[in-house]
Amino acid sequence: MTHPAQPKASHFINGEYVEDTSGTPIPVIYAATGEQIATVYAATPAIVEQALSTAKEAQKAWAKMTGTERGRILRRAADIMRERNHELSVLETYDTGKPLQETLVADATSGADALEYFGGLAGSLTGEHIPMGEDWVYTVREALGLCVGIGAWNYPTQIACWKGAPALACGNSMVFKPSETTPLCALKVAEILHEAGAPAGIYNVIQGMGEVGGALVTDPRVDKVSLTGSVPTGKKVYAAAAAGMKHVTMELGGKSPLIIFDDADIDNAVGGAINGNFYSSGQVCSNGTRVFVQKGIKEKFLARLAERTGNAILGDPMDEATSFGPMVTENQMNIVLGYIEKGKEEGARVVCGGARADMPGYYIQPTVFADVTDDMTIAREEIFGPVMSVLDFDTEEEVIARANDTEFGLSAGVFTSDFTRAHRVIGQLEAGSCFINSYNDAPVEAPFGGVKASGVGRENSKEAIKHFSQVKSVYVRMGDVEAAF
Ligand code: NAD
Repeated sequence: MTHPAQPKASHFINGEYVEDTSGTPIPVIYAATGEQIATVYAATPAIVEQALSTAKEAQKAWAKMTGTERGRILRRAADIMRERNHELSVLETYDTGKPLQETLVADATSGADALEYFGGLAGSLTGEHIPMGEDWVYTVREALGLCVGIGAWNYPTQIACWKGAPALACGNSMVFKPSETTPLCALKVAEILHEAGAPAGIYNVIQGMGEVGGALVTDPRVDKVSLTGSVPTGKKVYAAAAAGMKHVTMELGGKSPLIIFDDADIDNAVGGAINGNFYSSGQVCSNGTRVFVQKGIKEKFLARLAERTGNAILGDPMDEATSFGPMVTENQMNIVLGYIEKGKEEGARVVCGGARADMPGYYIQPTVFADVTDDMTIAREEIFGPVMSVLDFDTEEEVIARANDTEFGLSAGVFTSDFTRAHRVIGQLEAGSCFINSYNDAPVEAPFGGVKASGVGRENSKEAIKHFSQVKSVYVRMGDVEAAF
């Protein structure tokens, strides 16, 4: 019998599901059991062509609609997503393995937030009037044209919406390629947008590995590329886009610092560290995986952290009581277990976890290492799993320098009851998305993105509009033209 997660077809192009089984088969594995629940096929060159040509064509009429009309469609799609939240959350759980307890509140809902927010903004994307004496200049905020979105596997619904909603609000069309690991949810986003009234071709979804992503990025008809992925992929995609002088947004990896001063509220700081390391089993780009704890509260912090981490409920992700799910794939599980072994070998102390969980599926115990030093592999490389490194520090000046000593710059957090210090420290941290006495909040109203190797551009908020549009300026002369001859 066909599994309920099996989509009608692999691709959604020009308003309908499209299949081409001559592409490479991509098995969809449910991470909680290891069973294959669906199959999709990578886009063939013919499918890539169909996706790009229909999106290119559809964009012209879409851009001519008023922003309010476009916005109404996006807001209708948001309503449909909210009405179907349960069904979409179950699919997100099948796609990723993340527990339903999370997906019910973090995935289709945050996708709907983006559709609603950018739908609301669409009617007010205007230029400005610049007086020049009797003459004047006006500016027009125009769409870029055809945009490509490429997703990572941790938030397949959210990423499809975070890229699609601002792109469409500005009058662009989009071809979105989800991660080959989680190909299911973006198809639903395309289907819902179409149902809400988005014209055929405005938001196409095609499947495939890096090769298909590469074909999209290098196509001369594409005006912009927005990628969520790792730093090595980001460097390749950025270079390919640069060759065609395309606009880019790069949302890449991180190894973010979370700094806990000894005057912090311990339970809030422990809560921040848990949210910043174990949500989605640690598969979150902005995680605060280097937890710097001031020496005075170190043991107290670790004791409370171990106690609360012990309350994690590993189990069937479809059971709403489960609060901690598996790694997305067996491969990712093995990568993370490799880092855990490296941490032990290099002399870090295991406070809790430190092994695969004794159950079917790709579960790893939430793991805390203490006595981690700056040079250890687990403190330097992005692990993308439930592995927290706790490092000690003495002074503010010291911890700022150590926090910034990384190629990454996605996020940073500070816990302290001294607000002057909180702002002073945050002001010196090299990161794009920062938190004071909190961690990992990502509301659509706030800009999100990194500095240094963690990325270029911003998603969400009015900032995202700047990255999906361009400004035309028009000088209007009211008098005669003076010329030298
Ligand atoms: P990945 O870099 O392996 O793949 C990302 C996407 O790029 C996939 O869809 C993949 O098929 C595609 N791709 C790979 N090679 C390509 C190429 N040459 N040309 C075009 N596309 C190509 O990343 P992943 O393993 O899916 O996701 C995990 C990574 O994503 C982590 O590093 C994580 O930090 C990062 N991430 C960042 C954010 C953010 O917003 N900053 C959010 C989620 C994940």
